[in-house]
Amino acid sequence: MRTGIGTDVHRLVDGRPLWVAGLLWPDAPRGLDGHSDGDCAAHAMVDALLSAAGLGDIGSVFGVDDPRRSGASGVEFLDETANRVRAAGFEIANVAVQVIGNQPRVGSRRDEAQQVLGQAIGAPVSVSGTTTDGLGLTGRGEGVAAIATALLTLA
Ligand code: MG
Repeated sequence: MRTGIGTDVHRLVDGRPLWVAGLLWPDAPRGLDGHSDGDCAAHAMVDALLSAAGLGDIGSVFGVDDPRRSGASGVEFLDETANRVRAAGFEIANVAVQVIGNQPRVGSRRDEAQQVLGQAIGAPVSVSGTTTDGLGLTGRGEGVAAIATALLTLA
């Protein structure tokens, strides 16, 4: 078995839709900035999967500034990452991801998020959320962070 870890943070800005954990949050006043859709939860999961497989990280594999990736969804990255992990000889046992921030409250749509993310990687995904008691960049509402772990087995 192989474990991996991934983290990601994106800045909250005006004039962007909010995508977190594979879902659009239509009532959010601000969205996450980024070259892609800014979905920090999906990106942390990608890094956890690549880390567990020893395949590098999201920047080295996908090229964060690649114009072909402009606006790419986190779910697309996850789908392609799962394919690469399987091509490297692994099966995905599960992935856990925790979203850290004041908004969105992922627990309110946990089942939906777990289904979308799980479908993208073809394995169980558990989604949780937490806040930081008003402290730090997430507590001040400057951004949203995520941490993920992945467990792989040798196929
Ligand atoms: Mg990112």
